[in-house]
Amino acid sequence: MCGIVGIADAGGVSFSLYSALYALQHRGQESAGIATFDGAVLHKHKGQGLVSEVFDESLLASLEGSVGVGHVRYPTTGEKIPENIQPFNFRFRGKNIAVTHNGNLTNTADLKETFEKRGQIFCTTTDTEVIGNLIADELRISGGMEDAVLHCMRILKGSYSVVVMLDDVIWAFRDPLGIRPLCVGKLPNGHIVCSESVAVDALNGTFIRDVRPGELVRIDATGITFRQIAVADHPAHCVFEYIYFARADSVVDGRLVYDVRRHIGQALSENETICADLVSPVPDSGIAHAIGYSEASKIPYREGLIKNRYMGRTFIMPTQEARENAVRIKLNPVKGHVLDKSVVLVDDSIVRGTTSRRIIGLMREAGAAEVHMRIGSPALKAPCYLGVDMPTRKELIASDKSNEEVRKSIGASSLRHVSIEALISAIGMDKNDLCVGCLTGVYPLAIGCEQCSRRRVELIGGTYQSNLGVFKEVSEARTSTK
Ligand code: 5GP
Ligand code: MG
Repeated sequence: MCGIVGIADAGGVSFSLYSALYALQHRGQESAGIATFDGAVLHKHKGQGLVSEVFDESLLASLEGSVGVGHVRYPTTGEKIPENIQPFNFRFRGKNIAVTHNGNLTNTADLKETFEKRGQIFCTTTDTEVIGNLIADELRISGGMEDAVLHCMRILKGSYSVVVMLDDVIWAFRDPLGIRPLCVGKLPNGHIVCSESVAVDALNGTFIRDVRPGELVRIDATGITFRQIAVADHPAHCVFEYIYFARADSVVDGRLVYDVRRHIGQALSENETICADLVSPVPDSGIAHAIGYSEASKIPYREGLIKNRYMGRTFIMPTQEARENAVRIKLNPVKGHVLDKSVVLVDDSIVRGTTSRRIIGLMREAGAAEVHMRIGSPALKAPCYLGVDMPTRKELIASDKSNEEVRKSIGASSLRHVSIEALISAIGMDKNDLCVGCLTGVYPLAIGCEQCSRRRVELIGGTYQSNLGVFKEVSEARTSTK
């Protein structure tokens, strides 16, 4: 996952970047970083931990400049090592460059190999450095970021929303399928590009619009401009952003996430035959879904669990044992609400099944008579290669189990997931415009031996002339013309 932001603002950017990253903290809690440019020098600070732990006032004051980029990291590719903390920055032909990336490339290994054959070295194990190299590779030839981004869109495979600072200009682009979100806003004295609209809100800005799939945005002191670099016949927006990842108060690709979740909850309550006393969310991720369920079913909404707000997400614990213990500290059942009651418990998703199993156990210990688990996503059947942290089929409880087997395994009285059709209708987009790889095992681009429903992508921008399709040929052709 990860959250990214770029800001140009005449009044200075470091405190604004900090606020924006704070608003995007849910997209990554492992590390945070900011890079700014003051007209002559690139300033940066990065560290492991939450945004509030990594920065303080004097540090922020030292990050001078009227342009900058920031990043919160949730590791999908690359280990947890300090070198991997973004922004990834370097100097190239006298220019200062800082790159931030949200997404996951599927051809990193091939690209690295090609670069390494040319003698290039890599300092990190991230996709971001590969993107940085690709940009530098094209800047070397044409000198322009439009061409560099066109080059990226020809060669990169996978998902990538990217924000780059190139001296005093912010460039941002979204992969042609628009898999991960990216949007732009107007600030009182400048502009912002960021993963989610909540970061625009945090700065009292005005949301302009989502960056279109395949579009390049340029922001500097003079304003904002857009340029379409590539067009796909269909985008492939990630459904999991709506189910779980994005903040409920964000508007992603024109949909308020909260409402999508509420509609999912409403759909979940259709055709129910159970008789329940209350609907409780698994906080916080199941709240909007549970409210929708309660609205449509008329079963009262009552919290059966209270969350300790001062604890991180259980998912980021390193081992299964640590994850299991963490749930108990994080959530406490409200005995007075659930004793002898039939409870509908609503969560956004079941991944490994750890959370559901634990929580159902807690509810039963607290005296619940029945615990009916309702899930705001269809069963997760296949891994995500495009940026969500659910790596292998083996770890996904539903990948090889029937609904009844999962129900037994988590100890629920009954278990239902929302259907793919109802999910798509709650999002309100054409089913061909969404990535549902984790639900169906069919991905919007070719990934190894997995099935795919490939999109057709046409490159339209830039002045790039070569028709060579393969990176290796491209680099050879270029070397020979240099
Ligand atoms: P499980 O315990 O089944 O492995 O995970 C399910 C819980 O994890 C749900 O409550 C859901 O909100 C949360 N979850 C689902 N996907 C992710 C993710 O990518 N990252 C984090 N941190 N939590 C997730
Ligand atoms: Mg959750």
